Amino acid sequence: MQTRIQPKPMPKQKRIKLTGKAYTELRKALHKRARGHCESCCKYAPLLDEDGQFDVFRCGHVSHIKSKGAGGDDSPENCLWECFYCNVLVRSWGCKK
Ligand SMILES: [Zn+2]
Repeated sequence: MQTRIQPKPMPKQKRIKLTGKAYTELRKALHKRARGHCESCCKYAPLLDEDGQFDVFRCGHVSHIKSKGAGGDDSPENCLWECFYCNVLVRSWGCKK
């Protein structure tokens, strides 16, 4: 009888990530520290738009200096307040400014 070796599924990596209220608090703290502007390009990056809604293109984002994959965490020291362009386009997609 032949036994086939099944590839083991990759273990899911546990990541410490702030969620819900704690994440909102982190956003508030970074926004305050950055005085409402992107910490990379100084562009206006509000916490929420005029309607009190989170607009992904206009509002600021939490950017990790040391990525989670490299062992970074959600502490304010490891985070930057960045606009959509700096955070998403440059960091996540690698686009050049
Ligand atoms: Zn920016």
